[in-house]
Amino acid sequence: MKLAMAFLLPALSFAAVSGSLRGADADGASSSRVAAAPIASQPPSVMNGLAGLPALPDKDLPKPSGPVGGLKVLNWAGFSAAVTYTFDDSLASQLAHYAQLRATGVRMTFFQVSAAGASTGWQQVVNDGNELGNHTAHHCHADGSGCAAGAWAGSRTAEYAECNRFLAQSYGIGHVWTTATPYGDTGYDTTAATLFFLNRGVQGGQIAPGDATDPYNLRIYGASAGQTASAFDAQIDAARAAGNWLIFLFHSLGGDGGYAPVQAAGLLASIGHAKAFGDVWIDDMVNIGSYWEGQKAIETGKIDRSGGKIVVSWKLPAHFPPGRHVRITVPGGTVEQNGVALAWNGAGYYEVALDPGSLAIVP
Ligand SMILES: [Zn+2]
Repeated sequence: MKLAMAFLLPALSFAAVSGSLRGADADGASSSRVAAAPIASQPPSVMNGLAGLPALPDKDLPKPSGPVGGLKVLNWAGFSAAVTYTFDDSLASQLAHYAQLRATGVRMTFFQVSAAGASTGWQQVVNDGNELGNHTAHHCHADGSGCAAGAWAGSRTAEYAECNRFLAQSYGIGHVWTTATPYGDTGYDTTAATLFFLNRGVQGGQIAPGDATDPYNLRIYGASAGQTASAFDAQIDAARAAGNWLIFLFHSLGGDGGYAPVQAAGLLASIGHAKAFGDVWIDDMVNIGSYWEGQKAIETGKIDRSGGKIVVSWKLPAHFPPGRHVRITVPGGTVEQNGVALAWNGAGYYEVALDPGSLAIVP
């Protein structure tokens, strides 16, 4: 199939986009890709990138034994910063380099355009625990113009629904948590909010714990053509210094006519740079995003104090994934959920389930 994989980046890069539309024959570039025959229906995968929180080194810290008095949610599960790698446009070069990406052991998010068709390569990406997100069916602007592949499905909702159906039928994905806006067109944002937990935009910036970043226009660092590890490392260093969440946006890893190609070697070296710190949480968008939102939910929750006991209750945002946790510390007391005491972890936290919507701290 023909799929013009020029995609992304808003007004300023239209010249670049139309330039790369030429020669953007994904077929030619994707000959190394496994044939795009329809894959037999799979049982629904409830995971789609969801995973537990990463381990912290046990420091044998004693359970706090002071007075009962409030709580503190650890930023980024106790890590210094967070990094997410996202890849757009279902590009052949992403699959061509997938074995190397996989070897890093880092979970990542790949935003799929359903018109690109299915491939056993993407099924492997899902099976390995990565997240597939929705990048719409035909990669059009929010008003239906400028479709990169095929014809507008008739509405933004239909564009999202067609891509979700494709992800379910092709790869057994029971729920798609996140989306990324084609061309960074913010005209999608309100529609995305009716269907998804998070929407990634293309505006530059990083995300701080508890900040007011729009969850339906998450800020990013977008790789430009030809960039190497030093550019990516600098972003990681800045995120770590500030204690922020950095979302990378990559397109082509070369040779497929896709947007903003960078060499995989630079990306891989930079992933190594982030890993080497040992205190950076690197995970996919749904996992880090649900921690970011979960922390905000608790920190803005309702606090009731009576009889020396503190009850904190919270509401989770729409489309929030199930089974998520955050890590907290308290000055003292016993932390309970549903009447059951939570275990203290010697790394310095209690792990709180978000689904119950409340916790109690009792003397
Ligand atoms: Zn795109």
